[in-house]
Amino acid sequence: MRLEGVVLTPQGFRSGALEIGPDGRIIQVVGAPVEEAAARKGALPIILPGFIDLHVHGGGGHDVMDGGGAAARVAQFHAGHGTTAIAATTMTAPWEDLEAAFRGLAPHVQVRPSNGARILGVHLEGPYINRERLGAQPDHARPIDLAELRRLHALAPIRLVTLAPEIPANLRAFRELLAEGIRVQIGHTEGSYEEAVEALHHGASSFTHLFNAMPGLHHRNPGVVGAALAWAEYAEIIPDLLHVHPGAILAAKRAIPRLYCVTDSTSAAGMPDGEYRLGRHKVVKCLGGVRLPDGTLAGSALTMDQALRNLVDGLGLSLAEAARCLSTNAADHLGLSDRGRLVPGAMADAVVLDGDLSLQGVLLEGVWRDPDAR
Ligand SMILES: [Zn+2]
Repeated sequence: MRLEGVVLTPQGFRSGALEIGPDGRIIQVVGAPVEEAAARKGALPIILPGFIDLHVHGGGGHDVMDGGGAAARVAQFHAGHGTTAIAATTMTAPWEDLEAAFRGLAPHVQVRPSNGARILGVHLEGPYINRERLGAQPDHARPIDLAELRRLHALAPIRLVTLAPEIPANLRAFRELLAEGIRVQIGHTEGSYEEAVEALHHGASSFTHLFNAMPGLHHRNPGVVGAALAWAEYAEIIPDLLHVHPGAILAAKRAIPRLYCVTDSTSAAGMPDGEYRLGRHKVVKCLGGVRLPDGTLAGSALTMDQALRNLVDGLGLSLAEAARCLSTNAADHLGLSDRGRLVPGAMADAVVLDGDLSLQGVLLEGVWRDPDAR
């Protein structure tokens, strides 16, 4: 297969084509180098790496915590917005709810849902978080239980766990988590600067929705945010322009070399205003935000194609910078060298856009997403 357009490669745009083999991997990118400004003004479609979203609870009326085929529906919804790989994200919940969610999503990790994003595995957001910083997580927070976590991991692979490192049992578990190949993210935390730095020394590798569900930065008490800005290689950020001020996103981007965007989207994404569920919580979608009845932001209604437009049109990032934040950096955080970039040998995961950054098509592992699919 040959896909013509201006193709973003790690070395910049090329005006030519993406050549894809029958195995769904990229054979090569051909064409002459072209500047980004020319790429955006030209008549050819713009081809970027497919988006990778490592923090997704739901979309299109479905929530990963619903179990059954819900995770597949979520993967299909987000594929319609250019996302080609996700980490299905669970909520802080009792064991029975987590087990049901894992049993439901496991088959869809094995086989990519048709017309859906690849589910790379699970992001376990809690329950091993700080009860004082639940955000919109239900109050089922508890210290880490490695036996419980291993039972879940045996059902479906956990790629990422968000935990509060100031809880001593959580910090002591880092070695076992890392040995299982699970990335540890600092989040839903009351931790101090010192505790966050210690967690980084113990192998924590990212921060969950930086700035949200953690104390803010004060110059004499820099907290977890200060530790992230001073030392992190990776961190998540939610660029819906409701969770974090654009200036704070830019500050984080300048400080953290491989900041990556997540949606933290709920079942309300892509749905009309109204009441929805987030795990065991009732949430309300209104004016683009999703909130608990008390006004606390409860995940988002963001999609990654809108995130791209927010970064480029709202914050002034170049397309190349935006693509790193929306795809490459997330792949790198998971150690996936064959996703998040358009290079020979990589999976042909790509989004096709017009000059206004409207989505024209999505290539999922070398297969076109059916535009008529729900
Ligand atoms: Zn979340």
